[in-house]
Amino acid sequence: MPQTPAISDLDRCKECKGKCCSYFCLQIDTPKEYDEFEDVRWYLCHENVNVHIDEDGDWYMQVLNRCQFLDENYACTIYNDRPLLCRKYTDETCEDTVHGYGYQKEFHTPEELDAYVVETLGREEYEQEMVRQRAKHEEVSTEEMTQRLHSLGKLKLIRPKTPNPKGTS
Ligand code: SF4
Ligand code: SF4
Repeated sequence: MPQTPAISDLDRCKECKGKCCSYFCLQIDTPKEYDEFEDVRWYLCHENVNVHIDEDGDWYMQVLNRCQFLDENYACTIYNDRPLLCRKYTDETCEDTVHGYGYQKEFHTPEELDAYVVETLGREEYEQEMVRQRAKHEEVSTEEMTQRLHSLGKLKLIRPKTPNPKGTS
């Protein structure tokens, strides 16, 4: 975290534009099922939010939002009263030293996550669950939901039933 006393640190922090004070990360539950991935997709629908999987396989939501106490010179204006978390930040964890944390995966958009969900669950389960769970929540039949998702271009495997031309079952 930017420090006021050491001018060399300040120069460094200025150069990196206060990277470590410009976002925060929260660990989130590791998604396994379709609906849990949907929660993560909801995070990614928001501006300035990324999600990543770290080197241990833990999932984190990263909110790119600058700390209000970082001044225009990238120094901390509440240095003597800064939170404990900022005090734990050391040269070993400074991003200027570490150069990337070796994430396994990073997601910046809902589409990037969707591609990962298809890869993880398999397309068949992904599509089946999307149809089933959305139909359930909107209280429509799975046929109706299949039709809707098909017209949105979300389905590649599941096809809507073609209407019987004679109108009989
Ligand atoms: S990442 Fe390192 S160099 Fe950059 S602002 Fe934080 S402490 Fe300073
Ligand atoms: S309180 Fe100070 S050290 Fe902590 S994130 Fe904000 S500017 Fe950085």
